[in-house]
Amino acid sequence: MKKEIKIFSPATVANVACGFDVLGFCLDNKGDEMVIRKVSEKGIRITHIEGYDLPYEANKNVAGVSALSMYENINPDCGFEIEIYKNIKPGSGIGSSAASAVGSVFGMNELLGKPYNKTQLTYFAMKGEALSSKSEHADNLAPAIFGGFTLVKSTLPLDILQIPKPSELYATLIHPQIEIKTSDAREILPKQVSLKDATAQWANVGSLIHALHTSDYKLIHRSLQDIIVEPFRKQLIPHFDDVKFAALEAGALGCAISGSGPSIFALSQGKETALKVENAMQMVYSKTNIEFNTFVSDINIKGIKILKS
Ligand code: ADP
Repeated sequence: MKKEIKIFSPATVANVACGFDVLGFCLDNKGDEMVIRKVSEKGIRITHIEGYDLPYEANKNVAGVSALSMYENINPDCGFEIEIYKNIKPGSGIGSSAASAVGSVFGMNELLGKPYNKTQLTYFAMKGEALSSKSEHADNLAPAIFGGFTLVKSTLPLDILQIPKPSELYATLIHPQIEIKTSDAREILPKQVSLKDATAQWANVGSLIHALHTSDYKLIHRSLQDIIVEPFRKQLIPHFDDVKFAALEAGALGCAISGSGPSIFALSQGKETALKVENAMQMVYSKTNIEFNTFVSDINIKGIKILKS
């Protein structure tokens, strides 16, 4: 049986405008690499971290917490070492913690001969994700594990739906280099919403799902609206309104906060438009003194993958 595996664990966009805590999609060209190794000494050890300064203690690192949750469930006659090569900046809003939480359990599952299915892996990863966001949610985890667009229908019991991806859909991301903690971004949210707002929001979620199934780009445009969370969270992101306006002017189908921010994403029909949207977003931030980076990505329909085993 295999002793070591190297994997690519992708970045993801959660919420997707109207689908707070339930919708997400997987990015293609941004992600962490991880090596998971089966060893005779029992337990979970994080032996190497590169890219960003993160805790080595298994119970303080999301990769370790999700790994421990699965390890305790299966109680194998071996241990695991985890190496993390981080490309996704923690706290950037594109699922940095989710990529780590998913990577360790996916790798261990492969080395153990795949005793668990993707939904069960998401369950263990949720335990890790809870360490950084202080709540168990799977909107970044599900697209990282399943790929494409996912809808977390419920977390108890965990019920994940895979939604088709229209072939011409591309994402554009801008990451202003400021940090917003997921826990802070959750605290700013209202405790209650009006029935009128809730009705408008679930109409948008329903129509977005229909639009993704039917590749109806005009309907995607009409559905990518968040009237509940964005008005609060955008206050944490400088120049959010300007970026959104510029992205839509450049032809984006929609533009909203990625996860809990500060990254902002746009979806476009065709790569050419996605690149124009990237340029428009850059123009806004280049007039400020905030550092930023941008990229355009295909939607990754495979999700997490093995690089070497
Ligand atoms: P993101 O949405 O980018 O995942 P979060 O705020 O949810 O950002 O998570 C980042 C927080 O989780 C940081 O405080 C970071 O120190 C902590 N953390 C612990 N382990 C990891 C890990 N392996 N990868 C990323 N963040 C981690």
